[in-house]
Amino acid sequence: MNTTKNLIQKLYDNSNLSRDEFTLLIDNIDENDYEFLFNLARKRKEEYYDKSVFMRALIEFTNYCKQNCNYCGIRASNSKVERYRLSKEQILECSDEGYRLGYRSFVMQGGEDPFFSDDLLCDIVKSIKYKYPDVAITLSVGEKSMESYKKLKEAGTDRYLLRHETASKELYESLHPNMSFDNRRNCLFILKELGYQVGAGFMVGLPNQKTSDFVNDLEFLKELNPEMIGIGPFIPHEDTPLGSSIGGTVEKTLVMVAITRLLLPSALLPSTTALGTLDSKGREKALKAGANVVMPNLSPTNVRELYELYKDKICTGDEAAHCRKCIEVRINSTGYSVDMGRGDHSEWGK
Ligand code: SAH
Repeated sequence: MNTTKNLIQKLYDNSNLSRDEFTLLIDNIDENDYEFLFNLARKRKEEYYDKSVFMRALIEFTNYCKQNCNYCGIRASNSKVERYRLSKEQILECSDEGYRLGYRSFVMQGGEDPFFSDDLLCDIVKSIKYKYPDVAITLSVGEKSMESYKKLKEAGTDRYLLRHETASKELYESLHPNMSFDNRRNCLFILKELGYQVGAGFMVGLPNQKTSDFVNDLEFLKELNPEMIGIGPFIPHEDTPLGSSIGGTVEKTLVMVAITRLLLPSALLPSTTALGTLDSKGREKALKAGANVVMPNLSPTNVRELYELYKDKICTGDEAAHCRKCIEVRINSTGYSVDMGRGDHSEWGK
């Protein structure tokens, strides 16, 4: 076996590699190794989650944002976006629709929108939980204080998604005006400490992103040990400072998903919408490379196009029920099956 395959085998056997070995692997892996890597990643995934793919209903409830991430289409300075917020009633209607369709896991995502105070968010979470005690609720609304995270947890929030975006301090800070990597990192450790199931993750193909940055991502993930890890290609949005960048590729993203599966075998790894946007079979490919979660869109169709983080985002015209069916057909085509349960991490509560 060549060195690359040896390294993949070693990663599979030990669930880790040294910094130099990761560098060698990422620099030298090519299409001759993909099958080998993806098969081992899939095998590892099946040891923990068998043939199941978990479904999370995504509700994009506000595109107002006070931050100015250079890659993101809903950044504060983008004056071309028509802004929207869903009311509490609309969010509850989404959850009714989702529950009726069988979802037991909801993700509420939005920009950092101060309109949604801790009290309002807690009220919404409590209302959903009161009506549907058997669902898991995930929030993904950016950086907050420990006190806020604590209140939201006490209100019944089960999980929190906060991608670290990139674990290289310098690269992070060049992409996020007025934000600091130390704070992002701190938020993630606080969330863990508070007992959330935590989601981190990074983008692939950011401008100036090098192999050493990916190795930083992998080492950071190993240290944090999050329950979920979202990995997606960066897709330029024309109304942002990075609008003329090249963006990430499907292949590189799949490689990072598969390596992450071998590094953190029991993690929940979404097959991201961004992958489905670059390649009509992108999400199926990720499921065959170690991913085990999909997040169909449940937002009302009249606001979907407005939650445009990147260009040509898919499924903006489809009704929730249509998304549910479409994704099931796609999952079945990979030999896997839909699991509509809460989809907790395999070691959760043990
Ligand atoms: N405000 C929340 C949610 C951010 S949007 C938070 O801070 O966590 C969810 C994710 O979309 C981001 O974490 C980022 O990784 C991804 N994203 C944003 N713009 C993108 C782009 N242009 N291409 C690909 N992914 C993007």
